[in-house]
Amino acid sequence: MKKDVIVTGGAGFIGSNIVSTLIERGVNIHIFDNLSTGNKKNLDLNRVNLHKIDLKDDYRKWPKIEASTFYHFAANADVRGGLKNHEVDITENLLVTKNCCDYAIENNILDFVFASSATVYGEPNIFPTKEDCIFSQTSLYGASKISCEAFIQAYSNYDYFKSTIFRFVSWIGKGYSHGVIYDFVEKLLKNENKLEILGDGNQIKSYLDVRDGVKGVLDISALHNKKSCVFNLGHDEVMNVIKLADIVCDEMNLEKVQYEFTGGKRGWIGDSPLVHLDTNRAKDYGWYPRISIEDGIRETVRYLISDESRRFR
Ligand code: NAD
Repeated sequence: MKKDVIVTGGAGFIGSNIVSTLIERGVNIHIFDNLSTGNKKNLDLNRVNLHKIDLKDDYRKWPKIEASTFYHFAANADVRGGLKNHEVDITENLLVTKNCCDYAIENNILDFVFASSATVYGEPNIFPTKEDCIFSQTSLYGASKISCEAFIQAYSNYDYFKSTIFRFVSWIGKGYSHGVIYDFVEKLLKNENKLEILGDGNQIKSYLDVRDGVKGVLDISALHNKKSCVFNLGHDEVMNVIKLADIVCDEMNLEKVQYEFTGGKRGWIGDSPLVHLDTNRAKDYGWYPRISIEDGIRETVRYLISDESRRFR
């Protein structure tokens, strides 16, 4: 049986956490990453094979690896990026994903795992939102992710490979490198008296700790035996942005921070005011999020200001 796997985006936040757990499980790992937002420091370079490749380039020129599974986590992960740059989600998400699928087919890799996002739901009016509730798209990032999903499903239905698609809420925890907690910690380190909050602070979101997320991705993708399956991966709990800010300030021992709101229901154009996913399909495979959102936020803050992260040094 082939023991090697490929992880695209393996030097990034989620990918490097997937890689750490795969190493513990004794798997030989090949990382395809151009290090645009990823970092070698996230990796134990003695225990992985890092191939510096831009996945937009011709997939026929990528190293040929005999692998059992293709974990595809490389992307433009910045939901807001597409607002100003209308190309980025097409090239970094859709073109890259199509290249990855064609590479997997050419190299006879029979298992394809993809990182999609809760943004594909746009602004739903059913909560918790189930996998079959697709509404109008509200961001080019979400539009590219649902397009990637469609390509992967079509390839699966051509019988090229089994595929597992995960729609994630926001991940938090060790390795965290972008998102609301990063934004708040960065601002508070610059000025501990005031914090600008995008929107009115009443946006309600769900968050998932990396340890729960990694377990979900690796276990569920290995267990299901359908040709192609989509799973929401999120938390039963939700939290509004003001409460999240309170926890960040408390963890940083800041008592008198004045919040300043930019106003409006959304933090930015394309932001969803409420994200809460139904995860019963994933739970049918024995998975359950075990780390509370509050504990995950506190650990993320401690990680960001730690020597280990070196994010703000
Ligand atoms: P990240 O930016 O930390 O990691 C992305 C990785 O992909 C980086 O290592 C980057 O260098 C690499 N990459 C980007 N473009 C590339 C290219 N053209 N060629 C080769 N490598 C390239 O992002 P992340 O937060 O770890 O996200 C991982 C995946 O999960 C992405 O697909 C993202 O859209 C999805 N996702 C993330 C979250 C979250 O909360 N972080 C939520 C939903 C979905």
